[in-house]
Amino acid sequence: MGVSKATLGDPAIAKAMIQGGVKFIADSRIENIQKMRNAGISTQFVLLRTALSQAEAVVKNVDISLNTELATVRELSNFAKLHNTLHQIIVMVELGDLREGVLPRDLPQFIKKTIDLPNIKIIGIGCNLACYGGVKPDKHNMHQLCELADAIEKEFQIKLEIISGGNSANYEWSESAQPIGRINNLRLGEAILLGCETVNRKAIPGLHTSAFRLIAEVIESKEKPSLPFGEICQNAFGSVPTFIDRGIRRRVIIALGRQDILVSGLKPNNNLEILGSSSDHVVLDSNNYNCEIGSEVKFNLDYGGLLSAMTSPFIAKQFIGNSHTAA
Ligand SMILES: *Cc1c(COP(=O)(O)O)cnc(C)c1O
Repeated sequence: MGVSKATLGDPAIAKAMIQGGVKFIADSRIENIQKMRNAGISTQFVLLRTALSQAEAVVKNVDISLNTELATVRELSNFAKLHNTLHQIIVMVELGDLREGVLPRDLPQFIKKTIDLPNIKIIGIGCNLACYGGVKPDKHNMHQLCELADAIEKEFQIKLEIISGGNSANYEWSESAQPIGRINNLRLGEAILLGCETVNRKAIPGLHTSAFRLIAEVIESKEKPSLPFGEICQNAFGSVPTFIDRGIRRRVIIALGRQDILVSGLKPNNNLEILGSSSDHVVLDSNNYNCEIGSEVKFNLDYGGLLSAMTSPFIAKQFIGNSHTAA
């Protein structure tokens, strides 16, 4: 599954993922899936995060949703019946990362209570690691997922078609020599978009690691002291900043701020060093290089940077090397 959420469900990127061979497009936001559908993307859509209040939109727009709560699956069943559709679900199992998931000991009960709900089909189980608790996918937790799949199939006489082992953090595990068992699906966002796995953020051989670039405009460039002068109070974000005196330095301001971007997610690719930021300004030390007013500064992005940049309405998105343009 190609995961599109970090690009705000951009149809051009979903299209590229499909051309690249993914069988499903998965997103955490129903709004993103609706956007891709409206743009004419035709594939199997998977919703990664299911909210009870959106159950009707889910059954109308999504083929498969990931679920962990009985109340939500019941609501999906009600609306699937109302709209005369069959909604497929993957039940997420908690394997230690402590984000979403039914505890393994509760899984049989969960299946028992959902299996006969009208217009619902359980097509698989899955797990998500390395997101909240930073728990690494390894042979133990992956084996546990496979064993749970076997046990559920045996107890309920059903076939689980999808055993979804995780996200981009599963790359290393999937490449290692150990058998992958019954796991036949991964949900990959960052690996595809930024070309790296997410356990150690190592580049994946053959993939581009700078497919996304953020370009910002220089709006001020002046030599100034590196220590603020006057009495120091809280800054715009409620913290009292501290500074190192490096003498007079050339400081560059770009027209970009926390309203657009997770500033820690910017990776400057020349001599620039980020000194700080406020809502609409990022202040950089230019290593005494004089950036011209109106000139461009380029950044690579990490996952948080990509997510926030794609979400900012102030950042124009442009695709190069293809005719697609984002909304
Ligand atoms: C975001 C998400 C993914 C994709 O994660 P990446 O690290 O971008 O590969 C997979 N599964 C779930 C449930 C997610 O929420």
